[in-house]
Amino acid sequence: MTAALIDGDAVAAEVRDEVRTAVEKLAAKGVTPTLATVLMGTDPASETYVSLKQDDCEAVGIEARDVRIDGDAPADELYETVTDLNDDPSVHGVLVQQPLPDQVNDDGIVRAIDPRKDVDGFHPENLGLLMRGNARYVPCTPLGVQRLLVEADVETEGADVVVVGRSTIVGKPLANRLLARDDSGNATVTVCHSRTEDLTAKLRAADVVVAAVGVPELVDGSMIREGATVVDVGINRVERDGESMLVGDVDFESAREAAGAITPVPGGVGPMTRAMLLVNTVRAAGLVEGADVELATLD
Ligand code: NAD
Repeated sequence: MTAALIDGDAVAAEVRDEVRTAVEKLAAKGVTPTLATVLMGTDPASETYVSLKQDDCEAVGIEARDVRIDGDAPADELYETVTDLNDDPSVHGVLVQQPLPDQVNDDGIVRAIDPRKDVDGFHPENLGLLMRGNARYVPCTPLGVQRLLVEADVETEGADVVVVGRSTIVGKPLANRLLARDDSGNATVTVCHSRTEDLTAKLRAADVVVAAVGVPELVDGSMIREGATVVDVGINRVERDGESMLVGDVDFESAREAAGAITPVPGGVGPMTRAMLLVNTVRAAGLVEGADVELATLD
């Protein structure tokens, strides 16, 4: 079997169209959804991520504010910036780019963001709501994975889903979403991690495998049940034949021979994560302004 490709670029383009429509509806009510990104320091990868986020916002009519703080500044300066953005009624979403310099406590900053403006969905209040089954924001990558499964017509109800990776930004929130009692949940979820024994046996029993590990090509075709759906969250830069390239946590070539459907890297989950930040920002504008926002992804 050669797996069908789940095209993240195409679904992300659909999501952006939905966001554009929602932005227009908000504009008609006098609301311009606004995201403030905060970058402390000059980490080149973070600078790239922030500028992509700014461009993505502008492409759909979301106003993007680019707040920069010196990497040597005291932690208080970042806290004060976050407080000002929390208090600014024209800002709907606040995102502090991680990783942060050593003098700043990452967890403290996540807690300092107003949970209603926490478009990353990492604030403990938002993670708690997600776990209770009435999420305010779902973190962008899990939200993107879930939408890809819906678009690929993958039935999650009653399905055995194995999520490899237990991070707070991907594995754990995704497991909670897939457990939720709704049409895009109701799965039986197993979460595997670095201490899991016999990963292969767990994966071979899965109808859906989601790899979010950060180990290049850890999951290969021999670990995939015939016809299973494979979602590869991993983004790993490796050197091959003297060239630098991106690979996922799944060995694409062997996995596609066993799987029924598979996401590529790049062009799978990555573009969905970017698109879902826009969804969460429009949702934040709706919440903060008390306006109704209709987005298919939120139903
Ligand atoms: P993380 O480092 O926070 O967590 C990795 C998890 O993998 C841990 O829970 C660990 O227990 C588990 N793990 C490590 N080695 C393992 C092994 N041998 N067997 C089983 N489990 C193992 O990572 P993260 O932030 O969740 O990111 C995971 C990957 O996803 C990375 O490649 C990252 O770059 C990528 N990522 C991609 C997107 C996207 O938009 N596509 C978004 C976030 C993260």
